[in-house]
Amino acid sequence: MMNYIVFDLEWNSFKNIKGQVYYYKKFNEKTKFFDEIIEIGAIKLNDRLEYIDSFRVYIKPTIYKKINPRIIELTGIADEDLKYGFDFKKWLGKDYILCSWCDTDIKVLKRNIKYYNPKYKIESLLLPYIDIQKYCCEVLGYDRRVSLHEVINAENIVASTDKLHQALDDTKLTVDIFRKIFDKEKIRNYIINDVDCIYDSMNLNITVDMLDRTRLRARCASCGKYSKRLKLSFDNKKRRVSILSYCSSCGIYTKQRIKIKKNLLGDLVYVSRKKIVELSR
Ligand SMILES: [Zn+2]
Repeated sequence: MMNYIVFDLEWNSFKNIKGQVYYYKKFNEKTKFFDEIIEIGAIKLNDRLEYIDSFRVYIKPTIYKKINPRIIELTGIADEDLKYGFDFKKWLGKDYILCSWCDTDIKVLKRNIKYYNPKYKIESLLLPYIDIQKYCCEVLGYDRRVSLHEVINAENIVASTDKLHQALDDTKLTVDIFRKIFDKEKIRNYIINDVDCIYDSMNLNITVDMLDRTRLRARCASCGKYSKRLKLSFDNKKRRVSILSYCSSCGIYTKQRIKIKKNLLGDLVYVSRKKIVELSR
């Protein structure tokens, strides 16, 4: 039987704190920015969303030894709360679907695992996965990403905690919402089994020489055959390749845009869109 593991993370970051240039220089030369997990909260539910178990653990940060004062204010976690030692993997068990409110949590989890255990095969731990926020927004008809509290209030859900920004409490609220909108059939469409479906939007530094040329070949938007490339450009900021090509058998020009993304494993994913264009002489 498949269990649902709903989890939430709190992480330490000095992203917007002045005077932390030293940490930046020392640790973030390559990564630019690192969100170090300091708390994990998780609730294990069975396939009818009945409670099985929960845990909450603080994790001692090793990159930034001190916690950002803003994070202390937000989470109530103090330096002395943090300690080592919890086997998250063992606790997860065998058959489970990881769930979190917003996929940022799974990206941060991935980055932390990769940082501390570079050789670890994360896909076996992080998948399958459900972004409950996405499911919730679509089921309830929101056209934007909403916060836990917004949904709790709007849907008159009786919240099982009044705390916020503590990993286990945020997890409880996520479970409250999940139970309210849970549909065994519908939820199946939201289960992600493929790493290519979760893009890592953080810390993207893609240069043109990293791109696989064989993935950048021009194809005709009408017949689909490879066609003659007239122009290729790469937009560093938007991480997008633009290709203009001409197909002599169809006699048309195709504008192709290939968005370059990174999946959870750090591999590049090429998302291509083609459209036929008329060119004025
Ligand atoms: Zn063609």
